Amino acid sequence: MTIERNIARMTWPEVRDLDKTEAALVLPLGSLEQHGPHLTVDTDLYFSDRFLDLALERLPDAVKVYRLPILPISKSNEHAGFPGSFWLSAATLTAVVQDIAASALASGFRRLVLWNCHGGNRALLEVLARDVRAKTGLMVFQLFPSAIARDPLEVTEAEAAFGIHAGDWETSVMLALSPDRVRQDRVEAAFPDFTARHLSLEFKGATVAWLTRDFQPTGTWGDATVATAERGRVRVEAVLQRLADVLPEVAAFEFPDLRPSPGAGS
Ligand SMILES: [Zn+2]
Repeated sequence: MTIERNIARMTWPEVRDLDKTEAALVLPLGSLEQHGPHLTVDTDLYFSDRFLDLALERLPDAVKVYRLPILPISKSNEHAGFPGSFWLSAATLTAVVQDIAASALASGFRRLVLWNCHGGNRALLEVLARDVRAKTGLMVFQLFPSAIARDPLEVTEAEAAFGIHAGDWETSVMLALSPDRVRQDRVEAAFPDFTARHLSLEFKGATVAWLTRDFQPTGTWGDATVATAERGRVRVEAVLQRLADVLPEVAAFEFPDLRPSPGAGS
């Protein structure tokens, strides 16, 4: 019997009595958005929830990492126009995460981890995490699968450059974790039809603010036809290993005590 790590299944005195000195509270963020014709719209939220639970199972009981329920809808308006995509605006998501952070602080937590499985949230979360740190003193972390764990498998040049959504990685991982969510008869390879004049934009340093429908009418960016459950299992393992390494470090993290004194005479 391992320890309970889900805040939702505790009573308030149990949450109060957790030793939070070296502890982290994880807010998993998913998104509800189109994932091509072959993956269900809950792909990112399912990954966020499931990866987190699988990683938490691996932690020794002495490591105090707890989780909140998934925040299932986030900043995914790049998929606007594809039915089944639901999003919060940047302002709303910022306010929601700030309020959850304030609640975490009020519950006595000192560290908040944003375990985010939707790429479209990353830039916003980085900005708001720093604001939360400045306003509340909470230590705030953002973890994203491909940022913490490099893809251990070989992929084609096109996949490496443009395979960002519903391609080999996500389809393989879903085949490994929840094959019922994959419509095998609809898998496809679809890459943006960049002409030469586009090639230095977005993926080569200069950026253009795109919406998926600007480039990809079916919603897929990548090659899902090469996806297999076996490729997925290797990738799941890579993420879980890294997550299980990183979470204990986060739970024990402290900044050095270097804060300047606010004024003379202290
Ligand atoms: Zn996704």
